[in-house]
Amino acid sequence: MKDESFHALLRSRFPADTSAPLLETDQGSVWSWSQLDAASARMANALEQAGARPGDRIGAQVDKSPEALALYLACLRAGLVYLPLNNAYTPAEVGYFVGDARPAVFVCTPGALAALEPAALEAGALSVLTLDADGGGSLAEAAARHPEAHAPVLREAGHVAAIIYTSGTTGRSKGAMLTHGNLASNGLALVEAWAFGPGDVLLHALPVFHVHGLFVAHHCVLLSGARMLYHRRFDLPLLLRDLPRATVLMGVPTFYTRLLADPGFGRHTAPGVRLFVSGSAPLLPETFNAFEARTGHRILERYGMSEAGMITSNPLHGERRGGTVGQPLAGVTVRVADGEDRPLPAGETGGVQLRGPNVFAGYWGMPEKTREEFTADGFFRTGDVGRFDAHGYLSIVGRAKDLIITGGYNVYPREIELEIDAIPGVLESAVIGLPHPDFGEAVTAVVVARPGAALDPAAMVASLRERLAAYKLPKRVILADELPRNAMGKVQKAELRRLLG
Ligand code: AMP
Repeated sequence: MKDESFHALLRSRFPADTSAPLLETDQGSVWSWSQLDAASARMANALEQAGARPGDRIGAQVDKSPEALALYLACLRAGLVYLPLNNAYTPAEVGYFVGDARPAVFVCTPGALAALEPAALEAGALSVLTLDADGGGSLAEAAARHPEAHAPVLREAGHVAAIIYTSGTTGRSKGAMLTHGNLASNGLALVEAWAFGPGDVLLHALPVFHVHGLFVAHHCVLLSGARMLYHRRFDLPLLLRDLPRATVLMGVPTFYTRLLADPGFGRHTAPGVRLFVSGSAPLLPETFNAFEARTGHRILERYGMSEAGMITSNPLHGERRGGTVGQPLAGVTVRVADGEDRPLPAGETGGVQLRGPNVFAGYWGMPEKTREEFTADGFFRTGDVGRFDAHGYLSIVGRAKDLIITGGYNVYPREIELEIDAIPGVLESAVIGLPHPDFGEAVTAVVVARPGAALDPAAMVASLRERLAAYKLPKRVILADELPRNAMGKVQKAELRRLLG
């Protein structure tokens, strides 16, 4: 068998001198490449000792730490399937995931052990271990008893490396199976597209249970001999402290709005940064413009999802267009299609579909659901609605399921949100459809005012009337203190519909 393990690829690209620093935590501890490698070897031995065999799932709901990264690498090297879970999930939610994925070993924080162990054991786990925010716990203790030698398990490109449960706002969350080949092709495409190299220092302040922080950020560094400043969470003062030492920042849009909200932030606070990347949720053109005005940097926006890793990116060299997510990454074919999966020309809005080595192997335990999401000619239906411009840049207009149909007309919430956000005094907005006896759905806007601004719903609708067709106008404008968001900064529209419906 040819070894196509992603771990083997990573290992082949470690720097010659593995005693060099790889990451530095926000508390100042420094890990070298060889230390991370040794920690992952010990953990792989401990997981195998616990009974895990290649192909078995390893569930983890743990805090971000270098040890948690070592756990992920341990799974890759032992042919185990890493199954990270959002820290925000309640025991009941974790119960669903372990029941569905049946991990051989489950790792959680010591504080959650009593609540999670019964469900994990009931789902067939051989062992439930703990890992705390400082890298201690029963997994660490078990790992310490093992040698730092471990023979990596051979894998083919099609073997599953990780399962990422989608944040699915409708129905049950589905486990997207990512293969070693998916991770390798996408990681290499990003290193190339963003020109990562040994001189780079990535400021990593993203969570590590999600594609952005777990795959995109780690892989760019591990495949290029770069370094990381490793923050446990987004903390503005810490970010400002460490930005002067970074060359790349990867963030969700909220990172950038929070940076801009700090009057002390500017070009001088990030003198060495060559690249600011944004993704996981739409970056408002206003944020893109304000960031450029303040720092001279055009934020590079890219688009991806659990099922496909990264799909498109604005260019490193060449024009970065605000309000767009750029062009398909190398090897990825993206099209916008109509309801019958027929490709649409530039300028027309439809479903975003793609094909490429980054596209996942299917939803865990759901072959039917998987088949439904692929077209007859093998394209994956992302569920996003988008449009290409004449230069081949893609804009994401929204999620297909967020489309509002009012009086028989289609309304794309994003178009209305952009208009509302441009009204003076508006901080942000979310537009949803609520049941309406006459129109089927009524366009409804939830609006957050800037601090100190007073908004008048009637005046807002009046000003929108000048720019939007009558059927697109909100039937109701609701003022709110904030929008419900998940950890990745995505507005939870299902939550809004539930609250207001
Ligand atoms: P997840 O699978 O949780 O990573 O969510 C993926 C979804 O996030 C995509 O299908 C998009 O709806 C959204 N998304 C990711 N990046 C962007 C972006 N740059 N602009 C707009 N939406 C995005």
